[in-house]
Amino acid sequence: MGITRVAIAGSTGSIGTQTLDYIAQSDGQFEVVGLGVGTSAQAVIAQAKQWKPKVVAVADEAARKEVAQALPGVEVVSDQAVLAELADVVVNGVVGFAGLSVTMSTLRLGKRLALANKESLIAAGPVVQPLRNIAGADIVPVDSEHCAIHQCLRSSIDSGREVNRLLLTASGGPFRGRSRESLANVTVEEALKHPTWSMGPKITVDSSTLMNKGLEVIEAHELFGTDFDDIDVVVHPQSVVHSMVEFTDGAVIAQLSMPDMRLPIAYALSYPNRASVPFGSIDWSTLARLDFEVPDTQTFTCLNLAYQAGRTGGTAPAWLSAANEVAVEAFLNGQIMWSRIPEVIDATLQQHDGLVPTIVEDILHADALARRFALQVLSA
Ligand code: MG
Repeated sequence: MGITRVAIAGSTGSIGTQTLDYIAQSDGQFEVVGLGVGTSAQAVIAQAKQWKPKVVAVADEAARKEVAQALPGVEVVSDQAVLAELADVVVNGVVGFAGLSVTMSTLRLGKRLALANKESLIAAGPVVQPLRNIAGADIVPVDSEHCAIHQCLRSSIDSGREVNRLLLTASGGPFRGRSRESLANVTVEEALKHPTWSMGPKITVDSSTLMNKGLEVIEAHELFGTDFDDIDVVVHPQSVVHSMVEFTDGAVIAQLSMPDMRLPIAYALSYPNRASVPFGSIDWSTLARLDFEVPDTQTFTCLNLAYQAGRTGGTAPAWLSAANEVAVEAFLNGQIMWSRIPEVIDATLQQHDGLVPTIVEDILHADALARRFALQVLSA
């Protein structure tokens, strides 16, 4: 087997740095051919000096000039979408809706997409789906739950007929077990203290509201074509069972490992082979128990909002995701209380115009419109 050429969009973020960490430990199996960032000039310059990619993409103009000066001989471009041209596999570790162009360009060029950016698939499902039919185009999810389901489904000969339901596990986040009233005044710092996973701030806040799980329900529907009625969420605080598939005979297959994002990253980079580095090997002598409970949807209403938007379909998931990004940013900036996040999303979704998207411009329009409404809700 030859060397796999890897490009990483969002290379200085949590997923990007863990990808490079895995590649560093994998004995020259991978070549880093491209790195992409939004604004982080210094960090990407340091990465490029170490990894010597052919192309570095920097979205921000001032940062791009700084990077170009520091890296003579390296092609420095503005658009992360070009990373797919050089690579066999593109890791999309961009945060939020901004990851859409990377998702689309990778699939369009018939390359493998290691997808950590769930927002692009959630918002643009109807436009992304046809691209999956392009020869060579393949999505291997880096999200731990979907990576788990991807692994479980490999045990099935005809998953379309044999699967009864998908069981997405959720850690429950830092506020599991808390009442609505007790959550009225939680701080940003408390919301960012995730009990089992170390991740970026946006997804960590999403975990605290259960919106992350809601987005993952839609992501699972898009990735595996499963009806929303057949996707259930199970709270599992230890984050060792990463998700499960129940088959038509009642058999359940689960994937277990310690919570370490490098495992899903390594899985997506090595697919269809297994990575040889045992990230997250379980110590069965200390793993005392595995607990499961139903999610508290009275307190964490974002989960219901996501199911609703998913079932509505069309541009509703794009609206949901956009309103959530606006609300989470407002919370992180100290503009609103944590408990206002679902209210902002709900009020925004009330304005949804029912548009059914056919082209990417429809998605961009839906995203912009939803953000405008969400900002109006915030300032009302
Ligand atoms: Mg996840």
